[in-house]
Amino acid sequence: MATNSELNARRGAAVPRGVATAAPIVAARAENARLWDVEGREYIDFAGGIAVLNTGHRHPKVIAAVREQLDRLTHTAFQVTAYEPYIELAEKLNARAPIEGLAKTILFTTGAEAVENAVKIARAATGRSGVICFSGAFHGRSALTMAMTGKVAPYKAQFGPSPPDVFHAPFPLARYGVDVDTSLLVLNHILRADISADRVAAIVLEPVQGEGGFHQAPPELMRALRKICDANGILLVADEVQTGFGRTGKLFAMEHYDVRADLITVAKSLAGGFPLSGVIGRADVMDKVDPGGLGGTYGGSPIGCAAALAVLDVIESEGLLARADALGARAKAHLLELQTRNDMAPIDDIRGLGSMIAFDLVTARGAGTPDGAAAKRTTTRALEHGLILLSCGVSGETVRLLYPLTIEDDLFERGLERLTTALREG
Ligand code: PMP
Repeated sequence: MATNSELNARRGAAVPRGVATAAPIVAARAENARLWDVEGREYIDFAGGIAVLNTGHRHPKVIAAVREQLDRLTHTAFQVTAYEPYIELAEKLNARAPIEGLAKTILFTTGAEAVENAVKIARAATGRSGVICFSGAFHGRSALTMAMTGKVAPYKAQFGPSPPDVFHAPFPLARYGVDVDTSLLVLNHILRADISADRVAAIVLEPVQGEGGFHQAPPELMRALRKICDANGILLVADEVQTGFGRTGKLFAMEHYDVRADLITVAKSLAGGFPLSGVIGRADVMDKVDPGGLGGTYGGSPIGCAAALAVLDVIESEGLLARADALGARAKAHLLELQTRNDMAPIDDIRGLGSMIAFDLVTARGAGTPDGAAAKRTTTRALEHGLILLSCGVSGETVRLLYPLTIEDDLFERGLERLTTALREG
């Protein structure tokens, strides 16, 4: 069988550099929170395919549902003939999502597609074009979602002019000197200097920024945004592509807030490893788009829908929301202990809702500045010790934990031990 380095050499010759790979191994198979490379080495997976595997790799119920669906029907295109799994999934998401009043759901394939379509729906519903997002946000790599993403390198630097009418307010981040008042001050400044409120269709934000570093939008920010939206006929859109499906201890992270979004985008862990995304929103808003304006050949694939229905069942039957809280509390306690030890790389700002846990690598214990190079060293060392780990954050200074919520207790502890070893050698 080919080795990691042989396959990476072939990859280098066949696949462009633009799609970067965090771990220099080549995966052969995976099971729940374990992954094996082509050389047979076993890894504990704390990356979960970037927040896709809250129910683990190949959950038996998800695989069984997909197998059954494979034997019945794999594709019709929903625009040609409808099929029940799509309808049933829409009904379930409508019943569960924290949306005011009646909800409707449309399904797509990727997260970017969901966000892009949420903006299309908001524009159709309001007859306006403007979109306000936040610095540090990640919304995707398509032209519009790239414009909405609040980080230049590597996402936008080389890709020419952005679509117009997309603006960024600073996301509140204490480390970077931005509090909620500053954030709102600049937002109001945008509404005076760049675009009048009556031309803004949507304010879009992640309840907890994912790629931006697992920073939660403070409840007072969310409340203030809701007020601005209500006062000006703007729609509030929560991008829950990374926060969704149990990761934060709730099915939707918006359930942590006392205000509601008009539209919610979902993807990643929705379908346990199969490509599926969607927009869930107020029925009156969702129905503003005329027939044919929304869709996509593969959107809401029967396979993805079957997988997602199984995922919802697994989250409920295995108590994964409570499990997210329990595992997250254990991870935080472990990290807080590591933070006090002087034989560890200095870490700071241990944070997270449920199991959306992260911490920053800093240059000095207690008083340091963000250290992206140290975070990179940590993920590299972790891999050497058999732990797949991802960084994120404004300067790449954050290590995030995205283990499956179905991970076995002993494997979880072993994963934390490997993280400890990586930080000790940091
Ligand atoms: N929104 C958020 C919050 C995300 O985290 C991501 C992916 N990291 C996306 C959108 C884009 O999703 P996709 O890569 O499936 O297009």
